[in-house]
Amino acid sequence: MTVLLGCIADDFTGATDLANTLVRSGMRVLQTIGVPDAPLTEPADAVVVALKSRTIDAKEAVTQSLAALRWLQAQGAQQFYFKVCSTFDSTPQGNIGPVTDALMDTLAADFALVTPAFPDNARTVFKGHLFVGDLLLSESGMQHHPLTPMLDANLVRVLQAQTTRRVGLIDYAVVARGLQAIAARIAQLRGDGVTLAIADAVSNADLLRLGAALKGARLMTAGSGLAIGLAQNFGIQPSASASQLPPAHGFQAIVSGSCSAATNRQVAAFQSAGQPAMAIDPMRIAAGEDVAGAALAWAGPLLRHGPVLVYSSAEASEVKAVQGQLGVADAGALVEATLARIGCGLVALGVGQLVVAGGETSGACVQALGISRLRIGPQIDPGVPWCHALAHQDTGRTALHIALKSGNFGGDDFFTKAFTSVGTAA
Ligand code: ADP
Repeated sequence: MTVLLGCIADDFTGATDLANTLVRSGMRVLQTIGVPDAPLTEPADAVVVALKSRTIDAKEAVTQSLAALRWLQAQGAQQFYFKVCSTFDSTPQGNIGPVTDALMDTLAADFALVTPAFPDNARTVFKGHLFVGDLLLSESGMQHHPLTPMLDANLVRVLQAQTTRRVGLIDYAVVARGLQAIAARIAQLRGDGVTLAIADAVSNADLLRLGAALKGARLMTAGSGLAIGLAQNFGIQPSASASQLPPAHGFQAIVSGSCSAATNRQVAAFQSAGQPAMAIDPMRIAAGEDVAGAALAWAGPLLRHGPVLVYSSAEASEVKAVQGQLGVADAGALVEATLARIGCGLVALGVGQLVVAGGETSGACVQALGISRLRIGPQIDPGVPWCHALAHQDTGRTALHIALKSGNFGGDDFFTKAFTSVGTAA
């Protein structure tokens, strides 16, 4: 089975977002955690290699991305997608420019289209300028990002600062005219020695037109939005079979370390529905108490009656108070490690359907569970699919259904609704 599309994502939840979009367009998708050391054994139309390379040193990001590229090429992929953030998170040092350059060099690609547009998520690009909702990127709050402050919304300038290639623009008027106009503009840019171009897109129709123009392209650099238009190039139509997972087994549990507003509402809704929930207290973890052991002892007898929730989620004032005493990084690391231990313990108790809330929390749990590959299944809520973990060495189990929820994703009923949709996947 040959992989049609090889994807390299610069962070973990971004990888899942892209994989979810591809599945919804009809592709069967596997996501790997890092670059695998063995060949693919399961059929997949697309594979997304999840790296954590967005803010690391540019040289290291290039090394990891090229390792991912080589592995994807070995699985037969001919077309490649470098997935970046829809707010184009990067600095003048990179990593979007240097990684795109290195991928183009290795692929001998003479042109690459670049667009973070994701209209469904209110990211649009017009005349090369990125908007977040109604605001320019540089006025959207992203100008204050601690690691990648985005001070300029003009992506042609932003990308130009990161590459020695010349960067141009495929503007809205061209994109609106469709396939032939886009192809003609690309030919014109190439004739002028411009080998990278930001593409405008303000609607899904724009992304579909760009997607059609990318048939046969070696490389694109984009947010997950552009992925809606690629399956059509391989003759693949949306279908329920793309998201089919093996039947779900085992008990059901939720581990939540996200303190985002949406997650706090989901915790409250789960409790209001009369479902069992246990809060864990970071100060007790810091005091050396066996908080994980206590949570597992609590959960054990309840599991056979239905889903249980273990959470550290708290309102901002409580989180601030804990961070004031323990420090932001230490508080985060302590809670993540404890929730990851609880996640592993729950799986050892027979949980086969696990929801994890929180981006960092998800990373910690996936790592602790030894998960290296995920098959992407049906979407629970936008951006959050059920996944099937294909390998997790620490627990010795061969199968686990897991959903990894970014903090602000999901409706208020997410924690109860999730287990209904995994049932239909079975
Ligand atoms: P989100 O996706 O909502 O940002 P993350 O899991 O990425 O969620 O981040 C939440 C961070 O907050 C994690 O590092 C987690 O360990 C930490 N955290 C969770 N609960 C608490 C708490 N009660 N007090 C302090 N920090 C907490």
